[in-house]
Amino acid sequence: MKVKISLLQGGYCTHSRKMVLHGEANETCQFPSLFAVIEHPTEGILLYDTGYSEHFFGATRRYPYRLYAQVTPVFLKPEETAVAQLRERGISANEVKYILVSHFHGDHVTGLRDFPKARFVCLHQGYEQVRSLKGIAATRKGFLPALMPDDFERRALLIDREDSPLRIAPVPPFAYSYDLFGDGSIVLIPLEGHFCGQLGALIQTTQGPLFLIADACWLREGYLEQRLPHPLAMTLMNNPSQYKQDLADILSYHTQNPETAIMPSHCIPSFQEFVSAGQTPSA
Ligand SMILES: [Zn+2]
Repeated sequence: MKVKISLLQGGYCTHSRKMVLHGEANETCQFPSLFAVIEHPTEGILLYDTGYSEHFFGATRRYPYRLYAQVTPVFLKPEETAVAQLRERGISANEVKYILVSHFHGDHVTGLRDFPKARFVCLHQGYEQVRSLKGIAATRKGFLPALMPDDFERRALLIDREDSPLRIAPVPPFAYSYDLFGDGSIVLIPLEGHFCGQLGALIQTTQGPLFLIADACWLREGYLEQRLPHPLAMTLMNNPSQYKQDLADILSYHTQNPETAIMPSHCIPSFQEFVSAGQTPSA
């Protein structure tokens, strides 16, 4: 089963390039917040993450959450939110059936409140890590509690890492894989070095296979050249040795499956390449 996909940018933040890739110059760069709109032939509309939304600004107005917005200043036009870009495509917020939550960093979940009918798909263990976090503890983890819909738990489809009915034989070289609809169109793969419970998504699209790897690396040089972020940024990772393992696994997957486009959530060249390939009529 193949799905239609649109990869979109929901605003951007700015940050120093040397923090995201050790050894780079200390220059301030733009990092887009990408999200995907997936149209499944029988299951309907899904999102993978949401990009930024206006909720980010409310959620970071007060201390200590303000610190988050100071570290990564966010730039967003009203027409760039996921809900606005879907409306532009003739899709209402109520039509979104599922949101695949890669992980709970603020830049990936700020639009959750805009989709009142969506179910939230995430790794149970990842949600457990953040569900009761508040204040400084939350801010240190890049989690903004105000972004979470009040009925999140009622609408969540929590995947247990070890014991999920969706679990399938792992896609090598990864340790765990979950087939969301049992048709192979969307296979979720934990990449937990960056954040506990982070889920990548291997998607069979009409444009070819696409592996959304969220923040397993911020730029593609991370997996292609096995390069780490700045040591200071590494101290914020959930599990630095698993982070390195994730980079090695992604490169190994890429080598074995060169036809699969690999998409970090904040990498402009990867994004532009995928979008322009989709615009080229196939022979
Ligand atoms: Zn991110």
